[in-house]
Amino acid sequence: MPAKKKLRVQVYNQEGSVPFQSLVDSARQPFDLSGIETEWIDALRQPKTLMPYALNSNLGLRVTKGKPGPNLGSGYAVPGGVLSSIYPETLQSYRRLGEDAYHKIVGMSGAHEIGHLTGKPHSKKGLMRANFRPEELNDNANWGFIDD
Ligand SMILES: [Zn+2]
Repeated sequence: MPAKKKLRVQVYNQEGSVPFQSLVDSARQPFDLSGIETEWIDALRQPKTLMPYALNSNLGLRVTKGKPGPNLGSGYAVPGGVLSSIYPETLQSYRRLGEDAYHKIVGMSGAHEIGHLTGKPHSKKGLMRANFRPEELNDNANWGFIDD
């Protein structure tokens, strides 16, 4: 079995409604469950640590103000690309469930987009399903990488 490659994510938390550490604590969970080692860099605070992007090993996540545009949900990532974007403004409805719920969904949205960057398509179940719903938030079965 080949050595597992560590996935490095440079996070640009420009929108800032979820603190960097909360975002990372949530976003890393699906990768942990799948045995994928990750490292998360606060790109706004540690610019000297930034490294060139490299497909499948060094990726970027922008957390951005505003909305992505029609039919793009809470974010986007070009499959096989290196930089993804999420828009917490589109996830405000989760705040009625509390700030922890909101932090979780923003992190999971980031993990979903990073999944696309690593080549994962949409699936019927798990983190890569196309649409998230608030009532699914506390069912952990919905938040891993599940191939179908
Ligand atoms: Zn998607």
